[in-house]
Amino acid sequence: MLPVIFSEEFLEHDTGKYHPECADRLVAIVETLQKAPWQNQLQWLLPTPINIRDVLTWVEKIHGQDHIERVKDIAARGGGRLDLDTPVSSRSYEVALLAVSAWLDGVDRVLEINNPAFVLARPPGHHATRTTGMGFCIFSNAAIAANYALAQPGIARVAILDWDVHHGNGTEAIVKSNPQIIYCSLHQFPCYPGTGRASDRGLHDNVLNIPLQAGSTIKEYQPLFEQKIVPFLSNFQPDLLIVSAGYDANHDDPLAGISLQPQDYGIFTNYCLKITPRIVFGLEGGYDLPALAASVKATIASCLTLV
Ligand SMILES: [Zn+2]
Repeated sequence: MLPVIFSEEFLEHDTGKYHPECADRLVAIVETLQKAPWQNQLQWLLPTPINIRDVLTWVEKIHGQDHIERVKDIAARGGGRLDLDTPVSSRSYEVALLAVSAWLDGVDRVLEINNPAFVLARPPGHHATRTTGMGFCIFSNAAIAANYALAQPGIARVAILDWDVHHGNGTEAIVKSNPQIIYCSLHQFPCYPGTGRASDRGLHDNVLNIPLQAGSTIKEYQPLFEQKIVPFLSNFQPDLLIVSAGYDANHDDPLAGISLQPQDYGIFTNYCLKITPRIVFGLEGGYDLPALAASVKATIASCLTLV
């Protein structure tokens, strides 16, 4: 069984009528997974309620109080924006905390079963820095989850692989000073948010940025996985791998220009499974709904050959 952590509350982070990071993304994924031939191998789990886990404690270890209070205040006032791209609705503060809780549940489940889990949550997180949200992201789900994992018994090294088409500037900025975390990002460059140069290696040589040109396909990605990404992640011998699983490098995605096909994410997943079966996949971007849903399906299908 592969745990899928999901709540309909994630649909209540309301980004407005025309925003690409919309609730329908999750609806499309859930519908597709429920029709998959292996859907009976999915274990649908609700995230731990935010008051039961005290999620805020974990968020406060990563984000400044000013940022947290700002999100809370905007939500309490009925909504607003963190930046031009990043709306906060009346429910967004609690939903963003619940998303963090779901990522932490993903860590718990994976460490318990020694097999992958998929966190189907929103808002995404990899652009959120310590001090602000940006680029559709409110809290840094992946960095908070990595920090949480390091507090669990026997966990000394956590790797983060970010295959969203955009560089995870927030995750990198937060983890680059921590020698217990490595971060690898594959992203279109130049592209939003403008960071992610190959020369940025982190304070402990713990960052691997792989910029890719628009138009790149699986033919460009595969040698990079084999020669750079898998060795970088494997050599670290991570106790846990967190995948910032964005699916906006799809050919059909409206926000970027990489030309992956949904099934290519199954290939990516197979590379990850060679490193460790302890993988938390957490949703980041992906804005063409059919391609997004098919890509998540391909990711999970690859995992199910192992689980
Ligand atoms: Zn993205």
